Amino acid sequence: MKVQEIFQTMEYGPAPESNKESIEFLDSHKRKFGLFINGKWVKPESNEYFESINPSTKEKLAEIAEANVKDVDQAVKAAGKALKSWVEIGGHGRARYMYALARQIQKHARLFAVLESMDNGKPIRETRDIDIPLVARHFYHHAGWAQLMDTEMKDYKEIGVIGQIIPWNFPLLMLSWKIAPSLAMGNTVILKPAEFTSLTALLFADICKQIGLPTGVVNVVTGHGDTGAAIVNHPDVKKIAFTGSTEVGKIIRKATAGSGKKISLELGGKSPFIVFEDADLDSVVEGVVDAIWFNQGQVCCAGSRLLVQESIAEKLYKKIRVRMETLRIGNSLDKTIDIGAIVAPVQLKVIEDLVQKGIDEGNTIWQPTLVCPTDGYFYPPTLFTDVAPSSSIAQEEIFGPVLVGMSFRSHGEAVKLANNTRYGLAASIWTENINLALDVAPQIKAGTVWINCTNVFDAASGFGGYRESGFGREGGKEGLYEYVKHTSDSEFRDSPKKIKTTEPPSSNGSSKSLPKIDKTPKLFIGGKQARPDGGNSMAVLDTFGNQISEVPKGNRKDIRNAVEAAHSCTAWGSLTGHAKAQVLYYIAENLSARSAEFVTRIMQQTNQSQTDAEKEVATSIERIYTYAAWADKYDGNVHHTIQRNITIAMPEKVGVMAIICPEELPLLGLISTVIPALAMGNSLIVVPSEKSPLSATDLYQILETSDVPGGAVNIVTGHKDELCKELAKHDDVDGLWYFGSAQGSKDVELLSADNLKRTWVSYGKYRDWYDKSQSEGREFLRHAIEIKNIWVPYGE
Ligand code: NDP
Repeated sequence: MKVQEIFQTMEYGPAPESNKESIEFLDSHKRKFGLFINGKWVKPESNEYFESINPSTKEKLAEIAEANVKDVDQAVKAAGKALKSWVEIGGHGRARYMYALARQIQKHARLFAVLESMDNGKPIRETRDIDIPLVARHFYHHAGWAQLMDTEMKDYKEIGVIGQIIPWNFPLLMLSWKIAPSLAMGNTVILKPAEFTSLTALLFADICKQIGLPTGVVNVVTGHGDTGAAIVNHPDVKKIAFTGSTEVGKIIRKATAGSGKKISLELGGKSPFIVFEDADLDSVVEGVVDAIWFNQGQVCCAGSRLLVQESIAEKLYKKIRVRMETLRIGNSLDKTIDIGAIVAPVQLKVIEDLVQKGIDEGNTIWQPTLVCPTDGYFYPPTLFTDVAPSSSIAQEEIFGPVLVGMSFRSHGEAVKLANNTRYGLAASIWTENINLALDVAPQIKAGTVWINCTNVFDAASGFGGYRESGFGREGGKEGLYEYVKHTSDSEFRDSPKKIKTTEPPSSNGSSKSLPKIDKTPKLFIGGKQARPDGGNSMAVLDTFGNQISEVPKGNRKDIRNAVEAAHSCTAWGSLTGHAKAQVLYYIAENLSARSAEFVTRIMQQTNQSQTDAEKEVATSIERIYTYAAWADKYDGNVHHTIQRNITIAMPEKVGVMAIICPEELPLLGLISTVIPALAMGNSLIVVPSEKSPLSATDLYQILETSDVPGGAVNIVTGHKDELCKELAKHDDVDGLWYFGSAQGSKDVELLSADNLKRTWVSYGKYRDWYDKSQSEGREFLRHAIEIKNIWVPYGE
């Protein structure tokens, strides 16, 4: 092209980034990669390899080993062997290695960036300026957490060997999100990259060798879904950290049910991008580019649903179309392009099919005039407008460069539309009115909310979803808890502590006094005492088998009524911490006033001595005080993220939670589990001890007189495990705690997989409810909240 022509068209010329070092790296491995196990490159047992393709050119880059069950077993053994010394080297020792990893990544930043672009198809500008700097940042940040573990995480210890399965959209970044916190907290790792994008993980393995990371601490096994499944199912892998599709996330939840494996799932999304009429529309347009055309829209938190206030909708769509015409699409190594290639033909097909579905459903489609290159897998930026909220393209994750626009009139409608999804990963809000932004942010059900920005990430901030976007957080201090276990976990017993019993005085039936007035315990739903739907009761026996009372036998319908009542109770969740604390103190006050009655009830049910029963009531009152104290003190955080932002980590209630109480200690077991969840603002469905439910049915009288709003606590007595199954299956229950048998725990994890409830189960282990280190405090509060990170532009 002549200079004169360039001035006429003002077209960019090609500006290819050199791939020389990447080719040298591939050649140094003869373009054939083995598995990285125990610090060595080894051949796969099956001797099978698959190809890694450059999606911009369809050219073959290398052959990658396919790991099978035996290879995975070798890797797990290597990680297991490395564990002891990795823990013993201590936080400072690990910090040194992690600092070296961060430095080495920075030293080879361009190689990583180019290789990632070639393997994944994403623009070099993104890998160079976003992915790789963030990878280094993750290792630096977590080197710091390794250093601080002894003081800042002193009640926690490593989990052991961790299996990590990552997707193809941010291959090295996802590796760093998973490996950095694992290593910092003293765990060893076996990582499986996605089949399409293994190369930077293999280069990372080389880097581990270069810095002399002890062998076996990091193992990389490549392969397909079967390799991932072999990691998930290996008995010596103690935790699975997964990022990928919601579908596979559910498979993993089911596969690990009851095994005691900890899991964190970072899954899909359909994130709203909400534009109010007073927003700066030119900034919004650039925000849209970052939200949906960053990484070709193959981003779990992509702002793929554009919700725009009706008064400015047409104006904004027009501006977006003008901007779309200027987007450049092409080879990922061209420094002037905005949109690269789609990772693989199968993904391209998914996008094409969903777009066709959108057209068939009558939505209005618009694409710019740009021509996609034909030598790779490309898809043009696409805008749908006037989309119905129920349309499949408004509900399904397209995972491509496709923006779906719809309008709203009022702020309330914006919130409703935003939350009209099974996902809850992220949202962004655009307005010049900070009051409006901060009013809307807490109402959106999503783990991250960006205000006047989008798709910004940092190692100091937690990232993760609500609802079917998965559970657990990655990044920040909140992310560390996914990679540790509480030190008291190892003290749990296989059977409950034996309690001393005394036989009740026998009655020969010769008493001449009048019979006692019958006391009929009921269910407690929506703040009212309720008869069970089925009209059945069940006997309550003492420990010697004597019948002492009867309680309602709750059924599925009672559970549904209780869940509905919990959902309708908005009064409790919206109280301030101070107001909640007052109600909790009031419960303690009323319990204290009636403590003699509760002591008698405990003695009657459990045949404990009076002294022991008095201790149980006194400890229960003290425990309520503890959580009343916490109600206004379980603070969030302000993270020091690297961008021009403050990031506010807000603890929010989980929502509607079911608490299946322990069998032992009918009052203390219930108080220890119900009150922390209540203190954090959740509305509850409580299934009390099946054997000894009378302390719970007495307690509702205290709740009624302690200003607890109707529906905040609902109590359903009956067969614990049957009721629990109904709660686990119920789509409107957001969280479930289960304290009971190993089988019951497994059922909970299995049955709750379909809506990916947050579950916390005891796996048939027993706590000492009198021991504060096992049964009180932050560990309970942490399970009763979700953390939402709200990014607010701030500073210079
Ligand atoms: P998957 O969830 O299938 O893959 C993610 C990772 O899990 C990959 O390493 C994959 O291996 C592995 N895997 C697949 N099946 C199993 C299994 N049964 N047990 C254990 N591991 C398994 O996502 P895809 O890559 O197939 O993408 C499909 C869709 O998922 C996309 O269209 C998109 O909607 C969504 N997605 C979401 C992401 C996110 O960040 N939330 C990221 C990527 C995809 P392998 O690659 O070999 O199949």
